[in-house]
Amino acid sequence: MFLKLHAPDDYINYLLTAEFRTTLDHNDYRNLQQYKRGLQGEGKFYNLIKDIKGIVCLWDLVLNINGEVQYDFLIISNKRIIHIDIKNYSGIYHYQDGNFQNESGYVHQGLISQLERAHTKLEQFVKHHNLDYQVFSRLLFINPNFRLDHYTGDKRIIFLHQLDTFLDYLRQKTYSDIDVQTGHLLCNHHSPISRNRIHYYPYETMIKGVQCKQCGAIGTFVAQTQRIMMCSCGSLISKEAYILQAIDEITLLKTTPFKRKELNEYTKVNISTIKRYLKKYCNIVGNNKSSRYVKNE
Ligand SMILES: [Zn+2]
Repeated sequence: MFLKLHAPDDYINYLLTAEFRTTLDHNDYRNLQQYKRGLQGEGKFYNLIKDIKGIVCLWDLVLNINGEVQYDFLIISNKRIIHIDIKNYSGIYHYQDGNFQNESGYVHQGLISQLERAHTKLEQFVKHHNLDYQVFSRLLFINPNFRLDHYTGDKRIIFLHQLDTFLDYLRQKTYSDIDVQTGHLLCNHHSPISRNRIHYYPYETMIKGVQCKQCGAIGTFVAQTQRIMMCSCGSLISKEAYILQAIDEITLLKTTPFKRKELNEYTKVNISTIKRYLKKYCNIVGNNKSSRYVKNE
């Protein structure tokens, strides 16, 4: 049972929406690619454990225990909390003293010490809340194209070929009401990572239009009927959902209240329909002459 799923933070959300509308700078581009690669690995693991009945799971939790610490997966059952840190590295890596060096010489430092730090903080959390749990932490290399040479063995590391055994172990578990309570307690302490600064790209120069969730194309929807919009890939969406998505995207991209005209240009939907949905979903800021809109919460 999953009590919490992954959700991208504000920074990643912004980059995901802006990605194909402008040219991201090197830093943002790299962060987004890294995020996507990581998420792909985590998604794989999620799919493998989501139907296992006897465990309580949290995906992507951040605790603030004298500093932020992030957990990819926490699995709670039978007085045990198992923390799984997923790595989606691919290629041949050379192992030395807990460091992982890839073929081009890049060294991933401190994977084990990061795991240990997270482990210790989780133990602190357990102790602080008087919970009767033992904490286990494992690093899982989930990519089938990952190879490690000169590996000397470490029980904290799980490789893909060992995953079936681990999944079998999870399938034998059962959870109690206390495990569910513990899961909720951890969720209640989730504090999303705060990023101080997002580099916002100018809205004016971005490619406008609703992005299709099926094919990723931007601005390819046309009205199929009065109430249905269709993308060039054939994907259908109600006009209401289409306008709502436009409002969300503009809000993310503009970061300031938007004008009716901007929503009209973004959606190519006629003004009278736009007016109706603005009334339903948005609040007006400013006076009539230069009315701008923000989505109501
Ligand atoms: Zn599409």
